[in-house]
This record gives sequence, structure tokens and C-alpha cells, in this order.
Amino acid sequence: MGAAPALEARGLVKEFRGFRATNDVNLQIQEGEIHAIIGPNGAGKTTLFNLLSGFLKPTAGEVTLFGQRIDALAPHEIVRRGLSRSFQISSVFPTLTVRENVVVALQAGTPLPHRFWTPLSRLEGLRDRADEILQAVGLSDFAGRAASELSHGEKRQLEIGISMSQEPRVLLLDEPTSGMGSEGIARVAALVRQVARGRTVVLVEHNMSVVAELADRITVLQYGSVLASGRYDDVRLDPRVIEAYLGD
Ligand code: ADP
Repeated sequence: MGAAPALEARGLVKEFRGFRATNDVNLQIQEGEIHAIIGPNGAGKTTLFNLLSGFLKPTAGEVTLFGQRIDALAPHEIVRRGLSRSFQISSVFPTLTVRENVVVALQAGTPLPHRFWTPLSRLEGLRDRADEILQAVGLSDFAGRAASELSHGEKRQLEIGISMSQEPRVLLLDEPTSGMGSEGIARVAALVRQVARGRTVVLVEHNMSVVAELADRITVLQYGSVLASGRYDDVRLDPRVIEAYLGD
């Protein structure tokens, strides 16, 4: 038997008052791959992300992370086991500096009583670590600025930095290029490729050229179900996929 997938959904169902937003989804994400989840609006992409990261509990089915069940765990417990996510809606604190935003995220990994009594030496360590993360996401020059001064694209870069602070083995990115111009899209695509080194990345993405450039494999959702899954070049030629998109 081979190694367990990094992330797996089996028979995943989510009902909202009888309406199936997620309908018997089976999904296998292999360790080290970049996997894109695509599909028309309302297809169930956000609901699936919420199920995978523990923000919603499934009506039926299971989610495993490296072979271990996680669907009954709270989101912070899932983070501790190695899965982090970014949000479509900004999780950045606007009045803190860019560096402080990352320090807060790093501290979030510290048990609560210690958070208020962090020794200065440890805080300095966190600052150094924050600066490494900021360098990795291309924001070193902005470290001392208020996060509110960042452009939309730079905020998305910071959010990726914040989700990196927990050193996840699996990173879920919710529309990392949304609302960006072509320059920002290229920058974030390069960043996603960089953070994917040595880890598994699952992203919801609308921009098909980003999907084509980044994704090893894709899964297409429609009406809460998996319509197709596989390599981008194979899936995009699937007549059912073409029809789903033309009908959008
Ligand atoms: P996507 O992210 O692909 O646009 P969503 O996961 O947001 O799709 O939504 C899938 C379907 O589930 C939609 O029809 C949406 O209206 C419905 N839905 C999502 N969340 C809820 C909720 N909390 N209560 C009721 N219906 C919901």
C-alpha cells in the first residue's frame, strides 16, 4: 500500500436545511501537489474549503489529513495537525504593522497563558521569524508600515504570509488572485509556486491561466458534486466541463 494522501475527502456531504451544497464529494490530494478546485459560482467550492478546514462539520462523510480523521476537530486543532488556510475576506489587522500582523499569527501558535507573558527574547525571535516570512512573500520593504497602507494585492501576499506562519504541510488558498490586475496576478502566482515547494497546496481559483500555470491536477465542481478530476490538460477537454462553463 502507498502512503496516505495528504488530504482526502470520502463521501462528503453538507446539507443546509435539506439543500445539498456538497454532494458525495470524493477527493484525493497527493502530498506535494498543487491542486486547483474550480467550478461555476454556487458550485460548492467555499463550502468544500470550509469542510476541509473544519469551519463546517459535514452532514456525512469524512476528511482525512495524512490518513488521520480530522472532520470532527475544531479548526485550530486542524491547524496544529498541519493544515492552514487563507480566507477570501481579509484576515489582516489594518492598524497593526505588516510585521506585527505576522508576529500575532506566530504568537497564535503559542499556548494562550504564555501569549501575554512572552519574554522579550522570544518576541525578538518571533520578529526575526516574521521578517523571514515577509522576505519569502516579498514584503520586506513594507515590514514597518501599517497594513492598511498595503494595496489589495500586497494584502493578499500578507495573508499568504500569515497562513505560512503555522508552517503548514497543507495550505488551502481561497482565490489568492481575486480582484487583482495582471501584475499582481503574476506576482501571486509566482508566490504560490514558491510556497508550494515542499508542501501541498489546494487553491480555489477563477483565473484559468493561473490554474493552467500552477495546478498539477484540478477538480471541477458543479451543483456540489465532482464533475471531473485529473490533469488540467485532460479535464479542460472533457465535454461535460466545457458544457458546464459555457452554461455559466
Ligand atoms: P461557491 O464557493 O462555489 O460559489 P458555495 O460553497 O459558496 O459555492 O455555495 C454552494 C451553494 O450552497 C450555494 O447554492 C449557496 O447558496 C449554498 N450555501 C452556502 N452556504 C450556505 C449556508 N450557510 N446556508 C444555506 N445555503 C448555503
